[in-house]
Amino acid sequence: MPDASAQPTTDADRAIPGPLAGYTTLRTGGPAERIVAAGSADELVHAVRAAAEPVLILAGGSNVVIGDAGFPGTVVLVRSRGMRVIAEDATSVTVRVDAGEPWDDLVAATVANGWAGLECLSGIPGSTGATPIQNVGAYGQEVAETITGVEVYDRVEGTRQVIPAAECGFAYRGSIFKYMDRWVVLSVDFRLARSPLSGPVRYAELARALGVEVGEQVPLADARAVVLRLRAGKGMVLDATDPDTRSVGSFFTNPVLDRATYEQLLERSAELGDPPAWPGADGLVKVSAAWLIDKAGFAKGHPGEGGVAISSKHTLALTNRSGTAHTSDLLTLARTISDQVHARFGVTLHPEPVLINCTL
Ligand SMILES: Cc1cc2nc3c(=O)[nH]c(=O)nc-3n(C[C@H](O)[C@H](O)[C@H](O)COP(=O)(O)OP(=O)(O)OC[C@H]3O[C@@H](n4cnc5c(N)ncnc54)[C@H](O)[C@@H]3O)c2cc1C
Repeated sequence: MPDASAQPTTDADRAIPGPLAGYTTLRTGGPAERIVAAGSADELVHAVRAAAEPVLILAGGSNVVIGDAGFPGTVVLVRSRGMRVIAEDATSVTVRVDAGEPWDDLVAATVANGWAGLECLSGIPGSTGATPIQNVGAYGQEVAETITGVEVYDRVEGTRQVIPAAECGFAYRGSIFKYMDRWVVLSVDFRLARSPLSGPVRYAELARALGVEVGEQVPLADARAVVLRLRAGKGMVLDATDPDTRSVGSFFTNPVLDRATYEQLLERSAELGDPPAWPGADGLVKVSAAWLIDKAGFAKGHPGEGGVAISSKHTLALTNRSGTAHTSDLLTLARTISDQVHARFGVTLHPEPVLINCTL
């Protein structure tokens, strides 16, 4: 992959040419008209202001599916780095983190400093600035719990402002920012507890692996180490030598069903046993997409055409197994899976990544 961080410029004549596949963890995606890298918040604002529409903000490329035709405009790579404490007291610290800071470097630093709140989000690829976009979450933690504000450049108003967390519309794998190109995230503020211990462990699989009960706390470093181990076992930590990690992580979100749809699912799946489910607010029930996919006949490792396959370690991850697959191959497999799940259970699956210049 070209080293975009080495070229923190927005000058048109220094733009980096080339296909976008090299900038995505899926390793698919056609060319862009221009690719420019921004090494600071000011450069990011300048690059977005200077570019003719359309503009795509791209950071780690770990949650995007870019069409084979590429992007017919300017791609701005987020390469700003840095983290500083902006407030602290006896029990907490608030850190402001530049959008391009690699997420797992931040998590590692907070664990090392004895700051609790991000430890269960260890090993997630990508940038810090992208975490508010889909309210990144894993193992019972999500960034909405610790974000206090998001500094943005508002492309409609042409201004910089901090959007308080309460106005970010955080939801399960969503926020006001997802699928909205109005805001460019410049930095994110997190309020973290000063504590050598994690928050109460909420996720049963993680508690089991740590040898504790759900609700107990563990040393931050233990939480991080075990999360990294669990994730690696599922191909959910990027590893250049492991084709199962050539993905966007989970391709589908867990569907959130109203009562009637959930009961219809229970009827249709009666002979299979109840799907793993998590009750939510207003009678809504979140059900396991991996279970639905598996029971609809798609086992781990299931191959599609053109070199794509379901990960051999995780039913929810669709992978560019060969390394030479096209986005169209991946989307064909995704469509086959979601059609079959719908035909079998009456449940619609929704993609988790942002689809750019392509559709499911
Ligand atoms: C192996 C693997 C495991 C994963 N596991 C998880 C997981 O456990 N939980 C989870 O929630 N996600 C997971 N993901 C998805 C992904 O890592 C996260 O969503 C991550 O936050 C994306 O960061 P990124 O920098 O790569 O974003 P990109 O893919 O570059 O961008 C994603 C979207 O955000 C927008 N965007 C990015 N940066 C900015 C910015 N500064 N301002 C405005 N818009 C911006 C882009 O335009 C795009 O729409 C996983 C992905 C992989 C490949």
